[in-house]
Amino acid sequence: MKLVFLGPPGAGKGTQAVRVSAQLGIAHISTGDILRTAIQEGTPEGMLAKTYIDKGQLVPDEMVLAIVRERILRPDCAKGFLFDGFPRTIVQAAALEKMVKLDQVVNLDVSDDLIVSRLSARRTCGVCKTPAIAKDGEAVCPVCGGQLIQRSDDKPETVLNRLGVYHKQTAPLIAFYRSLGLLMNVDGSKQPDAVFDAVMRQLGEKHDID
Ligand code: AMP
Repeated sequence: MKLVFLGPPGAGKGTQAVRVSAQLGIAHISTGDILRTAIQEGTPEGMLAKTYIDKGQLVPDEMVLAIVRERILRPDCAKGFLFDGFPRTIVQAAALEKMVKLDQVVNLDVSDDLIVSRLSARRTCGVCKTPAIAKDGEAVCPVCGGQLIQRSDDKPETVLNRLGVYHKQTAPLIAFYRSLGLLMNVDGSKQPDAVFDAVMRQLGEKHDID
């Protein structure tokens, strides 16, 4: 199974991608995670990517495409994979069409208002990496008690840039994939469990999954 998860930043792509890929036994490929790891490791690629990410802009298509071309050749992709946060431009989507035959594109539909409030509260545990929501100034991970941290690109001024970039560069992919007959819309405004159930049910209606 080869899937793409599409949606604005904060739609829940990462949360759902982790669960759906585990359920289907396929690799989870987050270009954002790969870029953040490169930044942490201080590679030249990471340093260049940081200049774009910190401004809420997309990194150049060629850099992301090189990462993806290499990543899908790894053994864990043999049974399939799920892209989370890729493709983000028509150029990337057209290049992907030449690389693999996708089975489905899942579009998580969430309004701009909800995105802004979700992203401003979004945190990640600095220790176990569990996604969390900051409630009433609470800064402790509900799973391990570690310190919750905010992604630098989730700061309010960057969030608005990222949303603008999404509408201009990524939202056109909805029509692109609809025209290829690959689009599946899911209401992403519900609680994570309900979204997961809807994704699995709708995938099950279209594909043979266990
Ligand atoms: P994400 O974790 O998917 O929200 O990605 C964080 C940031 O990494 C984005 O705001 C972009 O700057 C960059 N990024 C991730 N994936 C891509 C992509 N497919 N194309 C261009 N930039 C990307």
